[in-house]
Amino acid sequence: MNDDWICGRLGEDAPWALGAVNPPVFENSLFTFETAGDLAEAIKDEDERYVYWRGTNPTVDLAQRKLAALERAERAKCFGSGMGAISATISSLVSGGDHVLVLGAIYGPTTQFLRYLEKFGVTHTHVGDPAGLDSAIRANTRVLYFESPSYMSYRLVDIPAVTAWASGHGLVSVMDNTWSTPLFQKPLTMGVDLVIHSLSKYVGGHSDLVGGVVAGSTELIRPIALTEYQLYGAAMSPHDAAKVIKGLRTLPVRMAAHQERGLAVAAFLDRHEAVRAVHHPGLASHPDHELAKRQMTGFSSVFGLELDTDERQVVAAFLDRLKVFRIGVSWGGFESLVAAPALTTEESVRVTMGIPVGLVRLSVGLEPAGTLVEDLALALEGVVRLA
Ligand code: PLP
Repeated sequence: MNDDWICGRLGEDAPWALGAVNPPVFENSLFTFETAGDLAEAIKDEDERYVYWRGTNPTVDLAQRKLAALERAERAKCFGSGMGAISATISSLVSGGDHVLVLGAIYGPTTQFLRYLEKFGVTHTHVGDPAGLDSAIRANTRVLYFESPSYMSYRLVDIPAVTAWASGHGLVSVMDNTWSTPLFQKPLTMGVDLVIHSLSKYVGGHSDLVGGVVAGSTELIRPIALTEYQLYGAAMSPHDAAKVIKGLRTLPVRMAAHQERGLAVAAFLDRHEAVRAVHHPGLASHPDHELAKRQMTGFSSVFGLELDTDERQVVAAFLDRLKVFRIGVSWGGFESLVAAPALTTEESVRVTMGIPVGLVRLSVGLEPAGTLVEDLALALEGVVRLA
């Protein structure tokens, strides 16, 4: 099925009640039944049947159907945050005594969650390169977890090769695909078992939503939906689901614009004397550019810019000089944002992930590319003077 159609119209072929073009937001914490027997029957399946908000809701269901279709998945489950999806998914796949393999750099709080699981006897090993997987796997390893591009380093994982290795060893592979959105990369078609997104980024797109989703086979999603979703309680609200549905309507055109502006800004930075490196897989100079062209159909607009400095105060001064890029966490919205892990990420996590002090993350928004380039050029003049 065509992605543009899925984003705009899947599940909405006929107008809603009264000819409305947008679906109703089912603002209902509970649903009632004709008979006690009907309720008893429905409660056996709180993922499929509308019983209580913490199980599911018709507005959330519609968002889930669209996201599952975009990821070519049988099912998807939406959560109240990306971390809700990540923690529920990993918890569903492991028991005390199990081991998780992590490949490449991943989102900091995901590493923190894996550390948290140690108190329940679940351990993990972080492997920087796929060549290290064979020696890191143990008899009790259950899960291979990764991102591609990997967090902050923007290096790619060869998804078909790594998932073939994982399934050959009986592991469930889980991939965070937030960077690419479901439009630019389809991990399930390359052998990944479960794909996760923070919907708080490009999918929401307007910086007014926090949400997450996990998509995959019914066999893997149903246990998460019926157990961790219900018990951890990170349920998506119908209001946030309505924002996801609205975000999806414009996702294809927004991503085309983000891609174009991101590449223009990255190309400018790639030539600048105060910049040590630009980590954008869409640039021909990126070490994984050929792999990127094989497994991705486009590039989002979040990337790393490595300033030619190892001094935190130079990095901070660069951020302070920017006027159009705003300093803030998160990314993927309409507004351009900047952040520096050396100033915000827990030091041990930054070092484990191999993130240099001079690395700055840019999230290129929908402002004109020329305005963004001007803003960066002025701020970089300061770096040249301080260096
Ligand atoms: N995955 C990635 C790659 C992220 O950058 C983030 C948040 O920044 C998350 C997951 C977590 O998502 P959320 O903030 O919606 O919990």
